[in-house]
Amino acid sequence: MEIRENIPLAPYTTLQIGGPARWFVDAASEEELAQAVTFARSKGAPVFVLGGGSNLLVSDKGFPGVVIHICNRGIREKMDGAATIFTVAAGEEWDSFVQQMVDRDFSGVECLAGIPGTVGGTPVQNVGAYGQEVASTIVSVRALDRTNLQMIDFSNAQCQFGYRRSLFNSTARERYIVTSVSYRLRLHGTPSLAYKELAEAFPDPSSIPSLAQVSEKVRSIRRSKGMLLMDGDLDSRSAGSFFKNPVVSESQLADISARVTKEAHLAGRPAADSIPHFAAEPGTVKLLAGWLIEHAGFPRGFTLGKAAISSRHTLALVNRGEATAAEMLALRDQIRKRVLAQFGIMLEQEPVYVA
Ligand SMILES: Cc1cc2nc3c(=O)[nH]c(=O)nc-3n(C[C@H](O)[C@H](O)[C@H](O)COP(=O)(O)OP(=O)(O)OC[C@H]3O[C@@H](n4cnc5c(N)ncnc54)[C@H](O)[C@@H]3O)c2cc1C
Repeated sequence: MEIRENIPLAPYTTLQIGGPARWFVDAASEEELAQAVTFARSKGAPVFVLGGGSNLLVSDKGFPGVVIHICNRGIREKMDGAATIFTVAAGEEWDSFVQQMVDRDFSGVECLAGIPGTVGGTPVQNVGAYGQEVASTIVSVRALDRTNLQMIDFSNAQCQFGYRRSLFNSTARERYIVTSVSYRLRLHGTPSLAYKELAEAFPDPSSIPSLAQVSEKVRSIRRSKGMLLMDGDLDSRSAGSFFKNPVVSESQLADISARVTKEAHLAGRPAADSIPHFAAEPGTVKLLAGWLIEHAGFPRGFTLGKAAISSRHTLALVNRGEATAAEMLALRDQIRKRVLAQFGIMLEQEPVYVA
């Protein structure tokens, strides 16, 4: 195991922002992972676990401890009744695993095509898109407990999945390092068309699209929104959605609507169209962070220094050149402040801030 020093982190992130790691280790096995944690302990240094860097904003000063880059590889499979369980090493690239499954006609992850990052990153925030999330196919997650260097296998229920949430980014944040994830997928299963835009693309109820057609459609929607990593496309130099969609109670929604209508009335403006929302957990609704941002006065393409809102997706903050983390945070704060003032909602940041 090679321990390198003062390694710039920007090239390891999709935002391409951030200073150096004091120490940097590529860990290609569970043993190397344990050695890297032991090394950090010997230095009394903090640890940061790096996957594909697609959900990170690294500070301009970098990280003062040991960055452990997850690099293990391998996919195993076994039959489980009518389904197949794929156990995938955390360092495998998520999108290439999805492509392999779609090519082999296994359903369960087809709507998650085009999401960058590693397999190990997927349970952390319960990756989801276009009506699917990994919580519905994950059977178990294997991880190293940093407190005692023991390996643990978590069942799906133990992972405590919720919207962009799991045990790994909430109650046990930074305690476990995921080394592999097992997904239960179905051979020749039907694709998920739960998402409106996808369902509309395949309107004929008598003809079920193939998994390949659905995942290709997801990729093309992503491409049109700058949410597919493409060389030279500045709108895709992002960390995906920068804000989570806020979940509020039904009574909060009524308060927000009344407040917006009253403000419009006082300002002599026509009342805003009703606030779009979707049913979430019982008694709660999910609002669209993108709608709130636009209605707080931030159009797509809005720029602050070299940081900007994507010209194709209001939720993605992008690096338009040599943007600094400080510029990204300044843009984040301006957006948050105005959304809070206008709607009484504090937007929650999705990418992890590394400092
Ligand atoms: C263009 C674009 C589109 C995106 N679209 C979506 C989307 O549709 N839906 C969605 O949910 N996300 C989306 N994302 C966000 C991101 O791709 C996912 O969250 C992804 O799963 C992050 O994985 P990663 O390996 O890059 O993690 P990193 O960014 O490296 O790390 C993210 C967090 O996970 C932790 N982590 C990573 N690997 C491990 C591990 N093995 N063990 C323990 N902790 C770990 C890190 O410590 C950090 O806290 C998008 C990002 C981009 C750039």
